[in-house]
Amino acid sequence: MALLKKKEDKKPFVARSSAGGTGSEISPLRPVAVLKEPPCIGHCPSGNDIRGWLTIIAQREKLGLSLDEACTRAWRIEVETNPFPAVMGRVCPHPCEGECNRKVKDGAVAINSVERFIGDFGLEHALALPRLTSEPKPQKVAVVGAGPSGLSCAYQLARRGYPVTVFEAFEKPGGMLRYGIPEYRLPRQVLDGEIQRIADLGVEIRCGTTIGGDVSLDDLRREYQAVFVGIGAHKGRNLGIAGEEGAGVYTGTEFLNRANRGESVALGRHVVVVGGGDTAIDAARVSLRLGSDVAAVSRRMGAGVTVLYRRTRAEMPAIGREIEEALEEGIRIEYLAAPVRVVRNGDGQMTGIVVQRMALGEPDASGRRRPVPIEGDTYEIEADTLITAVSQEPDWSSLGTAEVKGSWLEVDEWGHTGMPDVWSGGDSVGLGLATISIGQGRKAAEAIDAALRGVEPTKPAPLPRVGPERIKLDYYEPKPRAERTVLGPEDRLARPTEEVDKGITDEAALFETTRCFSCGSCFGCERCWMYCQNNCVKKLTPEPGHYYKIDLTVCDGCKKCAEECPCGFLEMV
Ligand code: FAD
Repeated sequence: MALLKKKEDKKPFVARSSAGGTGSEISPLRPVAVLKEPPCIGHCPSGNDIRGWLTIIAQREKLGLSLDEACTRAWRIEVETNPFPAVMGRVCPHPCEGECNRKVKDGAVAINSVERFIGDFGLEHALALPRLTSEPKPQKVAVVGAGPSGLSCAYQLARRGYPVTVFEAFEKPGGMLRYGIPEYRLPRQVLDGEIQRIADLGVEIRCGTTIGGDVSLDDLRREYQAVFVGIGAHKGRNLGIAGEEGAGVYTGTEFLNRANRGESVALGRHVVVVGGGDTAIDAARVSLRLGSDVAAVSRRMGAGVTVLYRRTRAEMPAIGREIEEALEEGIRIEYLAAPVRVVRNGDGQMTGIVVQRMALGEPDASGRRRPVPIEGDTYEIEADTLITAVSQEPDWSSLGTAEVKGSWLEVDEWGHTGMPDVWSGGDSVGLGLATISIGQGRKAAEAIDAALRGVEPTKPAPLPRVGPERIKLDYYEPKPRAERTVLGPEDRLARPTEEVDKGITDEAALFETTRCFSCGSCFGCERCWMYCQNNCVKKLTPEPGHYYKIDLTVCDGCKKCAEECPCGFLEMV
C-alpha cells in the first residue's frame, strides 16, 4: 500500500499546528487511546467479544500466529461468554450484523458465518472449554433445565470450580435447541458436541428428572447452596376460539417436540399454522417434511401448509431468511388473517378454519400496529390439522413455586429471584432467543459466584460507543460480503433432515474477518506511526489491541495520529 512508507519518507505529509518547526502555537490537545465498544458487541445479548475473535484471525500475521493458533485463540475468546459457537453460528438471528458499522460501506461483516466457522473449528479440533481455576470450590449448585440458559450457567460455574448438577426433565439435554429447532437448521451432532464439552468440565447432567416430580425445588434448595431455574417456556398458548378443543389441534411447541423426538403425527392433507414467529415457521416447514399427503397437496396446489398471520410481513417476528425458505418450499402465508372458528363435521373431525380478514390500526404497547378485524370479511379454508404457534409460557405446574405471580418469574438484572438462593434466566423470565438465554445464564452464574464468595457482583465499566461517523470509511478497501449457500428447495424436501444452510467456505470466512473495521480498538494499521513527525509513536511487541505506545513527552499535539486513525481508537483530549 502506498501509505506504508518508511518513516524517512514521511516529511511531505507535515501539516502541523505546533512547535516543532512550523512556528505556530503549541496545541494543548494530546492523543489518547480510548478503547470503545463497537456496535456488534453492544448488540450481542450474550456479550460476546465479536471484534476480538474477528481481529485475532485477521491480524494473525502481525501477531505472529499460525492460522491454527489464531483460530484456537478466536475460539477461546468466543467461548468466554458463549459455550455454543457452532450452534449459535447456525441459529442466532445475529442482531450484531444489523448494527455493524461496515453496513454503511459495503455490507455488514458476515459475523454469524464466521462464528459458525470458528465453532466448527473448535469441534473439529476437539478444543476443551477453558477453566478459570483449577481450585475446586466447596459449594454445590443445582441447575434446573438443560436448555441454553441452564447450560450456560452450569458452564460458567463449573469453570469457576463449583460442582454443578443439571436436572433435565427430557431424555436429552438442549432444551428448545433440540426439542424446538428442527434438525435441518441445527444438526444434532453439532448440538451434542457442544453440550458434551460442558459435561467434560465435570458438569453432571441428569436427564429424565423433573424437578417438582421426582425431586422438589425445596429439596434442591436444602441440598445445594444455590439454584438456577432455567425451565424455558414449553407450554403453548391456545387461541381460545370455538372448535379448538378436539382432535387435530396442537400447540407449536407440542407439535415440534413430538416431531423432534421422531414421533409420527397424523396431519391429513391440509395443515393450518397460526402465528408469525420462529415456532410458527418451524412448525410449518416441519409439517411439510413430516406429512407426505401435505407435501403432495403442496406440490399440486401450493396449499398443503398455510400460515395465518394477523399482521403483515413487515411485523413478522420470525427470522427473515426462514420466512423466505418457507415460501420457497411452497408454504403459503396469509397476512392480515386470523382464525375465528374451527369447522368440524358430524364426527368431530376438523374440515376447515373460518378466517377473519384484518387491517392494521393504531400501534399497541409493543409499538407494532394493532390488527383489527374488518367487519363481515370472513372466509373458510380447508384444514385437517391446526397448529397454534401464537406464544408460549413456562410450565410452573410441576415446579410449584409460590414466587411466580404471573406467567414469568420476576428477577433483577442479575437474574436473582425473590428467593435468596435462587436465580433464573432464559425463557422462564420472558420469551427470547438462545443468545439472550446464554447471556442471562452467564450473568446469573457470575452473581451466584459472587454471592457464594460473599461479595457483590460487578459489571465491567461501560465503554464509549463508536458509530460509523467515527470510522474513516475510505481507509478500508471495498470488499464484498460473503453470502451463505443454501440447499435448493427440492433437495431440502427430498432430504428433510439435511442441513439447509451450508454456510460459507473456510476461505470466505477468513477473508470475511479482514472486513472487520476493528471499530474502537487498535489493529496495528501503522497510520499513527507513519504520520507522527516527532517519533512519539513507538511500536510494541504486538498483542491483540496493543500495537503502539504514545510518548507524550515529545508530542506537540499536531493531531495527525488521531486524524489518521481509521477505527476511532485515538482521540485528542
Ligand atoms: P429451554 O431451551 O426451553 O430449556 C429449558 C429446559 O428446561 C428444557 O429442556 C425443559 O425440558 C427443562 N425443564 C422444564 N421444566 C423442568 C422441570 N420442572 N424440571 C427439569 N427440567 C425442566 N432462538 C434463537 O436464538 N434462534 C432460533 O432460530 C430460534 N428458533 C426457535 C424455534 C422454536 C420452535 C422455539 C420454540 C424457540 C426458538 N428460539 C430460537 C428460542 C430459543 O430456543 C429459546 O429462547 C431458548 O432455547 C430458551 O432457553 P432456555 O434455556 O431458557 O429454555
